[in-house]
Amino acid sequence: MDQETLRYDPESQVEAKPTGPLGSERTRRMEILKGIPVSQGIVIGRVYVLDADTRHIGRHHIRRDAIEAELNRLDVALKQAREELAGVFKDAESVMGEEAAKVFLFHQGMLGDKSLIGPIRLMIDAESVSAEYAVSHVLGEWSERFGRMPDLAFRSKVNDLEDLQERILTHLTGERRCQLAQVPAGTVVVARDLTPTQATSFDRTRVLAFATDLGGKTSHTAIVARALGTPAVVGCQTLTRLATDGSTIIIDGERGVVVLDPNEETLDDYRAAIKKRQQTRVTVGDDARLPALTLDKVHVQVLGNIEFSDEIPSLLEQGGEGVGLYRTEFLYLTSSTEPTEEDHFTAYARCVKLLNGRPLVIRTVDLGADKYTQERTDVPERNPFLGLRSIRYCLRSIPMFKTQLRAILRASALGPIKVMFPLITTTNELRHAKLVVHDVMEDLEEEGIPFDRNVKIGMMVEVPAAALMADTFAREVDFFSIGTNDLIQYTLAVDRTNERVAGMYNPLNPAVLRLIRDTVRAARRHEIDVSLCGEAGGDLEIALLLIGMGLRTLSVTGSAVAPLKRLIRGVSLTQCERLARKVFSFDSDVQVAAYLRDRARKIVPEAFDGRSVDDAEPGSGSDPA
Ligand code: PEP
Ligand code: MG
Repeated sequence: MDQETLRYDPESQVEAKPTGPLGSERTRRMEILKGIPVSQGIVIGRVYVLDADTRHIGRHHIRRDAIEAELNRLDVALKQAREELAGVFKDAESVMGEEAAKVFLFHQGMLGDKSLIGPIRLMIDAESVSAEYAVSHVLGEWSERFGRMPDLAFRSKVNDLEDLQERILTHLTGERRCQLAQVPAGTVVVARDLTPTQATSFDRTRVLAFATDLGGKTSHTAIVARALGTPAVVGCQTLTRLATDGSTIIIDGERGVVVLDPNEETLDDYRAAIKKRQQTRVTVGDDARLPALTLDKVHVQVLGNIEFSDEIPSLLEQGGEGVGLYRTEFLYLTSSTEPTEEDHFTAYARCVKLLNGRPLVIRTVDLGADKYTQERTDVPERNPFLGLRSIRYCLRSIPMFKTQLRAILRASALGPIKVMFPLITTTNELRHAKLVVHDVMEDLEEEGIPFDRNVKIGMMVEVPAAALMADTFAREVDFFSIGTNDLIQYTLAVDRTNERVAGMYNPLNPAVLRLIRDTVRAARRHEIDVSLCGEAGGDLEIALLLIGMGLRTLSVTGSAVAPLKRLIRGVSLTQCERLARKVFSFDSDVQVAAYLRDRARKIVPEAFDGRSVDDAEPGSGSDPA
């Protein structure tokens, strides 16, 4: 959504609240910014603007006969940085789990990367400059180069490079910068960008959340925020220009909204939303174990989407009945080298153990587009979302694909696992992918390694071509899982990561709804399982519609599980089906949205009280004046 459209009426001025020592008394206008939600939770706090605070390192010349010593100094600093990172990894592992903590092993790997460190040594030697200058110059140039790349995958690594640069300079200069030692409780950190180290080092009793101008969903900083449970919104573009130290800020990590200097009405709405979330959390334990049965006793299975095995315990606590989507590409995003078969196997075996007999759908790696592969190519793709991503990438990287499949199949001997291919577009692709699975099965058989011969093989339906051909695909797979996140972007030609067209990215567009409906119908005709694992399933209004359209399994993000189960228990299938029939008589998303909004509140009012803010379109609220 364009930030201009998110601005409230310029006439509407609100009095600034008492803003603490750093706040000003002047009148401020409420500003609402839309960013990318990367870690859930809603927080109201005080702004602390973290300056970029770059070190100014002059070009300091050294004598030729001091070069040897300077190179030694660099080596010592690199060694110390490596050792420090080993400790950071251990500490991070204990708070956020091994998989997310691997971000720091990635940094360790960068320290050993000759293409990164070699030019630093070369510069010290060839230009007789200090190690500090060479480090800041070489890594600074890399950061600039990556920052200019149109591709998000490269841009998201800038903060890793900056993190590394700061760490090496700390060891070279002996000075550690720490701006955040003194922040008061209730702080929300606002920064142009944050490094993973900064995000990890916040005192979480004081720093409630953070928001940045830059960043993307798959950056290491986002992974750290999710693993720590720190609400965060990134990619807010102009936030640091607008935010003032000490003023009030709302971070809505559910919808990717940041509100600066909120008016009383907005604050009240958000306070109610926070209270509602807390109540949900408090009562989660009571009914989490109850199955999600509608009033007319139809079971809707509610599964969870995960990126790391460490998320499973909390998913189960919320009432998740298993994992409907394990995004395994995150194993690649936190590692500097490709995961080995053992790395894969360890992660999958851990999931099976934690799930203790509950279902686990492992999606084969969905790399490419904004994730990983672009960094490894000399010439990045011009249009990566339409490029060599996902199953296409796997089918061109058979050894890598087989490594993962071997691990999945080995883990299938330990518990109920299903394999799912992402982004299937053509039948040839599906057949090729299945052939590779059968090749791997033969290898395992020859080696006498146990696996489940009848492992279920399914596919994501997230490309319109697959939805349109669902009848054909349904004959060749055991199950479908509808991926609305991509299905919306490919149906409506709207880049899901581009905030400028975010307003056009609409799950309620009738074209999208028809593709979902036809996919469900095809699955039913062929008697195969069908579920939906896109974000839309976690939206309570849309969930009613999806159930009415015939879906009986929804896989959603962990925090959406309990509210969704409660919603299901408060409605009847008949009501949902009636609602869906009506929705299909509309020809615009605006009509669908208005009808759903109204009907949902009439059918299950209790599921929606206190959600006025969650439901309001940013910028469309009442005049704050
Ligand atoms: C989807 O596209 O809906 C989906 C669940 O997959 P991802 O968000 O990982 O692309
Ligand atoms: Mg997808």
